[in-house]
Amino acid sequence: MPPDSLPASADIVVIGGGIVGVSTAWFLARQGVNVVLCEKGYIAGEQSGRNWGWVRQQGRDLRELPMMIDSIRIFRNLERDIGESVGFAEGGCLFTARSDKDLESFHAWVASAKDYGLDTRVIDAPELKQVVPGASPAWRGALYTPSDGRAEPHKAAPAIARAASRAGATILTACAVRGIESAAGRVSGVVTEHGTIGTRVVLCAAGAWTSMFCRSLDISVPQLRVRGTVARTAPAEGVLGCNLFDAKLGIRLREDGGYTVAHGSILDHGITPSTFRYAFKFIPALMQEIKVLRLRFGRDFIDEWALPKHWPLDRPSPFEDKRVLDPAPSPRVLRGIRRNLDAVFPQLATVPIVESWAGMVETSPDVVPMIGQVGDIEGFHIATGFSGHGFGIGPGAGRAVAAMLTGADVGIDLSPFRLSRFFDGTPIRPQSTI
Ligand SMILES: Cc1cc2nc3c(=O)[nH]c(=O)nc-3n(C[C@H](O)[C@H](O)[C@H](O)COP(=O)(O)OP(=O)(O)OC[C@H]3O[C@@H](n4cnc5c(N)ncnc54)[C@H](O)[C@@H]3O)c2cc1C
Repeated sequence: MPPDSLPASADIVVIGGGIVGVSTAWFLARQGVNVVLCEKGYIAGEQSGRNWGWVRQQGRDLRELPMMIDSIRIFRNLERDIGESVGFAEGGCLFTARSDKDLESFHAWVASAKDYGLDTRVIDAPELKQVVPGASPAWRGALYTPSDGRAEPHKAAPAIARAASRAGATILTACAVRGIESAAGRVSGVVTEHGTIGTRVVLCAAGAWTSMFCRSLDISVPQLRVRGTVARTAPAEGVLGCNLFDAKLGIRLREDGGYTVAHGSILDHGITPSTFRYAFKFIPALMQEIKVLRLRFGRDFIDEWALPKHWPLDRPSPFEDKRVLDPAPSPRVLRGIRRNLDAVFPQLATVPIVESWAGMVETSPDVVPMIGQVGDIEGFHIATGFSGHGFGIGPGAGRAVAAMLTGADVGIDLSPFRLSRFFDGTPIRPQSTI
């Protein structure tokens, strides 16, 4: 529902009600900061409510590990701290190996992450059979982290938003932010469709919209979108208690006893003007994923082409035109999911798929987030580019970003996440694209 009234001012305004925005608002409100969060649609309407629900440390780019380890600590206590269920369970995570090359890459990751004290290890086929009794004979072993977990995307961000509200945050939905105002080189307000909120600090946690929002301020944020098709099965007991990623399938047990399933190896990208604008920076990631990349040319291109770069702030903006990014699931990918599910877990062949959906994943060129103050206007910050694995790290990112915004001790080095790494000659090397 649109807000009845708008606060005249706030210490900090957060744009975006995904897991990153609501977690930041929650940590800020707990510290007594007067924070307002504006969401154009509804909380977790986009990526944060549509993802696979994996809360995973293993296989990440090492730059993300400190924040992710903190995030899993927050998840462990979250239900106690907010007094609501988010469906968190520590069932473990498996990446299965079909070849010696896969096993080698898993050993290399474990060696590279040895200083972080994780319980990740490479297990052989007999041990894998103990963890997954119906393991496929094609699997030679797996990368395994027992302390990794899962949570329910439809529950987590809304529950954290309610906790933030109880702690004093103002959470506004159906409240698109059209732009910001500045005075003397500093943020002075946020212009929403319902009026202006005076503030000196803004966080843009707008997910797949961040690049467009920043472009209107002449800030270049390299970001592309990839459509992810997901399905869920009816409940089926005893097949799998953890998250499992295979070349053909991503699957995890749900709180309702069913499984959230997706195709393991399709990156479905609709070509847009942004594809050309940022192509050079994305070349390393595209080359790494060339075998699984499906490029489409059509409506997405025209839709983005038609968007203005700047718009007047006293009239409806593109953010009001599309309240919720709700792409259709790909029928072809859904057929692939069914086929692969039956092949990998024949025990589930008779279990029906009862729902399917899609989400637009936003990615950065090195598949690692971009966090920090950006542009020439003092007080304007971003936290975006979580690249297909921001749900698990979301609460940890929220804690770190809240500290950054208030000038407190972040406890984590945020410099690897600076936007300028894409412009200062730092080599762009994606490590993990899962
Ligand atoms: C299919 C799929 C599977 C995934 N699987 C996993 C997984 O298993 N584990 C994992 O860790 N991650 C996963 N991810 C990634 C994860 O969901 C995202 O990285 C994470 O949710 C990003 O959170 P966010 O808060 O940055 O963005 P979002 O959740 O996208 O939220 C951004 C919000 O900003 C709002 N907004 C934008 N512009 C404006 C504006 N101008 N005014 C007001 N509001 C605005 C949008 O409406 C949106 O609600 C997956 C994603 C998808 C799509």
